Amino acid sequence: MTINDLRSVLTGRVLLPGDEGFDQASKAWNLTVSQPVAAVVEAADVPDVSALVRYARRTGRTVATQPTGHGASGDVDGLILLRTGLLNEVEVRAEERVVRVGAGAKWAQILAATGPLGLTGLAGSAPGVGVTGYTLGGGVGWFSRKYGFASDSVRAFDIVDAEGEPARVTAESDPELFWALRGGGGDFAVVTALELDLYPVPSLYGGRVVWPEHRTREVYDAFLEITADAPRELSVWINRLQLPGGPPMVTLDMAYLGETAEATALLARIDKIGDALSDSRGIVPIADLGGITAEPTDPVPSITRAELLTSLDDDAVDLLLAKPVAPVINVQIRHLGGALADPDPAAGASGVLPEPYLLGLVGVGLPHTTDATHAKQADVVADLESYVSGRKPYTVLAPGESAAQAFSSITLARLQQIKQARDPRNVLRANYPVLG
Ligand SMILES: Cc1cc2nc3c(=O)[nH]c(=O)nc-3n(C[C@H](O)[C@H](O)[C@H](O)COP(=O)(O)OP(=O)(O)OC[C@H]3O[C@@H](n4cnc5c(N)ncnc54)[C@H](O)[C@@H]3O)c2cc1C
Repeated sequence: MTINDLRSVLTGRVLLPGDEGFDQASKAWNLTVSQPVAAVVEAADVPDVSALVRYARRTGRTVATQPTGHGASGDVDGLILLRTGLLNEVEVRAEERVVRVGAGAKWAQILAATGPLGLTGLAGSAPGVGVTGYTLGGGVGWFSRKYGFASDSVRAFDIVDAEGEPARVTAESDPELFWALRGGGGDFAVVTALELDLYPVPSLYGGRVVWPEHRTREVYDAFLEITADAPRELSVWINRLQLPGGPPMVTLDMAYLGETAEATALLARIDKIGDALSDSRGIVPIADLGGITAEPTDPVPSITRAELLTSLDDDAVDLLLAKPVAPVINVQIRHLGGALADPDPAAGASGVLPEPYLLGLVGVGLPHTTDATHAKQADVVADLESYVSGRKPYTVLAPGESAAQAFSSITLARLQQIKQARDPRNVLRANYPVLG
C-alpha cells in the first residue's frame, strides 16, 4: 500500500507534495520552520486516526501529530503530518467542572464556552494555541500560580495507541501512560480527546500598562516588589519591548483571579509610576483573556529562546538593563511559583517547577535578522548565567533544542522507557522526541 492508497481507507483529506493545498496544509505556525513532510492527513474522525497509525506501522512510516503547528520544531523530514483540526468538539459539563475537548480544539474555544458559566481552564497567553499540544507539554499560563500545570488538570485522555487501537487513559486505567501524557509531550500515543478540570472565576481583573523607556527601572522595581509576595491569584509579567520601527517601551501584564478592589490594592504600587502611555486594566471576560498580551494570532517568523531563572534581584535587573533590547523585540519575564512549585505526588511528567521566573527572548526570524537575534539571545543568557537554571518547560522548547533540556535525567529515563515499551517501532514522533 502506498501513501496514495491511504485515500481509499480514510474519510479525511490526504495531501501529497504537488497537490493543491499541500503547501498551506504542511506549514508550521512559526514561518521560520519548514516542514518537508511526505504527506499531510486531515483526520475526519477517530477511525481515520487508527487507520493512519496502522498504515504507518505496517509500512515503517512515522506520524507527527500537529493541530496548529505552534510548537513545530522542523524535525519532520519525510514524516506524515497528522492534522487534528476537524476533531474540535468542546463539551462543557459545568456541574462536574469538566470540559471535554477534541484533539484539534484551541484554547479560544474553551474560554468562549466556559467564560459565560463563570469557569475557566488553565490557558496560556495566546488562545490560538492548541489545547492538546499545550497540555501534553505541561502548559504554564495565567492561572498556573494558583492551579499548577494544565497537564495536572487532565482527568482522562482518549487515545489511539501506536498499534492503532483506541483506548481511554486515566490514572486508574493506565497510570504509567497517564503520567507520561501529562507533560511528557506527544511521543506516546495520538490523543483524540481530553477531559480537563475547570475552575471558578468569581471575577477576573487584568490588563497591560505601557510606559516609555525612561520609566524602565521604576517598572522593574515595582515588578520585583509586587512579585516578591504576590498571592497565588495574581500573575504579573514584565516586557521590555523594542518593536520594529517603534520606540523602546516597558510594560506590565497582569491577571488577578478575584475582585477588582483586591486587585487594585495589590497593584497600587503601579499607580505611583507616572507617564503611562496606555493602561487597559479592568474586568476581563474570560473569553478575552488573550487580549491582555495581544500576541500575534497569524503565523509569524519568530525566533524564541526561554530560560528558567532561579531568582531575580536588583543585580539581575542591572545586568538586564545594561544593554539595549534590540535586535530582539521583547525581553519578557513571567512570574511563576505558587502551585507550580508545590511538591505533588500525583503530578505527571511535568513534575515540579521550583524556578520563580521564566525569561523569554523573542526575535524576528528574517534572513537579515536571524544571526543577530540568536547572538543577542545567547548574550543575554550569558550575562544572566548565575541566574539561569539550565532547564526549561517543555512547551517553550525552540527549534534546535531537545527534550533533555526540559526534564531531569530520572524523568527523561522514565519517559524513554515508556516510549520504548509503548511505541518500539517509533510510529509516532513528538516535536521534541524523548529519545532525541
Ligand atoms: C504565540 C504563542 C504563545 C504561547 N504561549 C504559551 C504559554 O503561555 N504557555 C505555555 O506553556 N506555552 C505557550 N506556548 C507554547 C505552546 O504551548 C507549544 O508550542 C505547544 O506545543 C503548542 O501546542 P499546539 O497543539 O498548538 O501546537 P502543535 O505544534 O500543533 O503541536 C505541538 C506538539 O504537541 C503534540 N501533539 C499535539 N496534538 C497531539 C495529539 N493529538 N496527539 C499527540 N500529540 C500531539 C505533538 O508532539 C506536536 O508536535 C505558546 C506558543 C506560541 C507560538
